[in-house]
Order: sequence, then C-alpha cells, then structure tokens
Amino acid sequence: MSEDQQKKNAKHKQAMQKHKAKVDANIAAADIQRGVAVLLTGNGKGKSSSAFGMVIRALGYGQKVGVVQFIKGAQQSGEELFLKNHCPEVNLYQMGTGFTWNTQDRGSDIAAAERTWEEAGKMLTDASYDLVVLDELTYMLAYKYLDELQILKALAERPPEQSVVVTGRGGGSALQELMDTVSEVKDIKHAFKAGIKARKGVDY
Ligand code: ATP
Ligand code: MG
Repeated sequence: MSEDQQKKNAKHKQAMQKHKAKVDANIAAADIQRGVAVLLTGNGKGKSSSAFGMVIRALGYGQKVGVVQFIKGAQQSGEELFLKNHCPEVNLYQMGTGFTWNTQDRGSDIAAAERTWEEAGKMLTDASYDLVVLDELTYMLAYKYLDELQILKALAERPPEQSVVVTGRGGGSALQELMDTVSEVKDIKHAFKAGIKARKGVDY
C-alpha cells in the first residue's frame, strides 16, 4: 500500500471513530420507549409506498397491523392484492370511493369518510395493534369531511405502544405538531408529467 493510501485509510478510520462516538451518544440519549406517530406528506411520490414498507417491517416481527385507506380503493393496487392474498391477518379497510374529482358527491363522500373513520377509531383504541396505517387521511381534513379535533384526539390518545402512520399531502399544522416524525416527500420530477403511464408495481 502506498504511503498516500495509508494516510487516507488512517484519516478515514479517525473520521469513522468520531462519527461512531456521535451515533452512539445519540442512541444512548434516545431512551424513551413508546409507539411513534409518523406523518408522510409532500407533493412527491413515495408516501403510501413508504407506509407499506413499514407494514412489511412490522409483519416481519409478527406484529399486528391495521390499514385504513381513505379515498383509495376504487382502483386496485398491488399492496391491496398482496395483503389480501398473502397477509389475511392484516386488517385492511378501504373507503373505496375513489377520488373526489370522480365521485363529485360531497354528501356521499362525507358519509363514506365517517364510516371509514369509525374503523380507524376502532384500531386506534385497540392496544393489540402494533401499527396502524391511515393512508390518505390528510385529505379528509383538507376537505373538512372529518372533524380535525376528533382525529387529533384519537391519534394522541391511542395506546402508548401503538405506532401510527398517516399519509397524504398537507394535513395542517396541528397534525404536524402532534406527530413525532414528519417527512415531506419533495416532487423534483415525476414520470407521469413526461407522459409515462402509471406503472403496475411502481405506481399502484
Ligand atoms: P406512492 O403510493 O407511489 O408512494 P404517494 O402516496 O406519495 O405515492 P399519492 O399522492 O398518494 O402519492 O398518489 C399516488 C399515485 O400518484 C401514485 O401512482 C404516484 O406515482 C402518483 N403520484 C405521486 N406523486 C405524484 C406527482 N408529483 N405527480 C404525478 N403523479 C404522482
Ligand atoms: Mg398515497
């Protein structure tokens, strides 16, 4: 090994040691054990698919998972097929009305939202659920289909060991405040805007 390479290796080792010390200190400082509330928001692609990534993680540990999909469900998705065919133990409830610009009926949308929220509410009060996913819930707040305070209260008062993932654009500042982890997926570019059709296995 050349002297230059040896120097580079020694420098790398030193930097990694320093980094490890920082990581170890951060891990030691995080000593609270409880479920987390995650909000995945923003205009980019990757919110629901990230939520379903967490579903897979939880299932890997044999945890109990509930999924409630607001809006979605009119169109089939790979995650729906997978859960129905391979994970019958996952409680999946879909509002099934499709997008509001398709239904164009506020009254029936609100009734469907309330029915769907009832299912979510059951999961959020059932401590046997380790993970509850509320996919596209934010739109119910944006359209004022559901009462914001009622939702915030249910999220805040869920069993302490239960984690919850909420997805969807927007959602409002009160929801952001309440959630422990908030990630914004930024839209830099999307294939659809270049005329590429939504793709099975990638987009749905
Ligand atoms: P995904 O389910 O792929 O993680 P998402 O949950 O972040 O996406 P949604 O707003 O729920 O995004 O929309 C779902 C569908 O819309 C997916 O087919 C996704 O590829 C597409 N989509 C998401 N963001 C954009 C965008 N910025 N422009 C066009 N299509 C988008
Ligand atoms: Mg989504």
